[in-house]
Amino acid sequence: MRIVRTVAEMRASRPQGGTVGLVPTMGALHAGHEALLQAARAECDCVVMSLFVNEAQFASGEDFARYPRDEERDARIAEAAGVDILFAPPADELYPPGFRTWVEPNEEGLEAEFRPGHFRGVATICLKLFNIVRPQRVYFGQKDAQQVHVVLRMLRDLNLDIDLRTLPTVRDADGLAFSSRNALLTPEERELALALPRALQTGDPALARELLDGLDVDYVAIADFEQRVLAGAIRIGSTRLIDNVPLEGETR
Ligand code: AMP
Repeated sequence: MRIVRTVAEMRASRPQGGTVGLVPTMGALHAGHEALLQAARAECDCVVMSLFVNEAQFASGEDFARYPRDEERDARIAEAAGVDILFAPPADELYPPGFRTWVEPNEEGLEAEFRPGHFRGVATICLKLFNIVRPQRVYFGQKDAQQVHVVLRMLRDLNLDIDLRTLPTVRDADGLAFSSRNALLTPEERELALALPRALQTGDPALARELLDGLDVDYVAIADFEQRVLAGAIRIGSTRLIDNVPLEGETR
């Protein structure tokens, strides 16, 4: 596995022929990321994983500084998963002095409401990564269903010829969706967090709210993304968690 730090080196490392698959991540890899890497490995000749904690997608006052980071561990996991190129640039490589052009997805509701500017940061970094790596396929998790929705619309609106693959949410044995932010939870907080998947699995917003009674809930709502989901976001101490459950037979 080659570790690449600059845009120029990434461009030079990309093979000319074959299918290139890109898995964008912010690191602190877990089984959810590994599922994306496995799918990319199975379907592409060259697998690129980006590792970049994108400050632009953190709203002000959010957890950018305490976001878990362990590049050595991530590199070991990526290599074992068959990644060919790990693209891990420093921040000023992607946002050099003078940077001031942004992709504005005009998304509303749910994450867009509670994380102002989040999807502008997401769309901008995704378009940059797509232009730098030039993948034919990109891999995203259903865990972030609204992110998939926003990126798919960007591909359409901006005429990008890229195939986006969405992989199902990978959960731990207790039902909690894998998330890099789970590492920030104390054991007691993790117990409380289990209420989120349990609530969403009811498929019923009113019942879900009851099951989340006493917790700090940002939203619980049915959302029509690529499929209909029951989505929720809660805050446990200083950690914010999101999850969603597809509703059976209710695809749009
Ligand atoms: P992140 O590193 O959190 O930005 O996530 C990178 C990619 O992994 C995104 O496409 C996420 O949707 C996806 N992902 C995160 N958690 C999971 C999970 N539990 N199951 C499947 N995909 C996930």
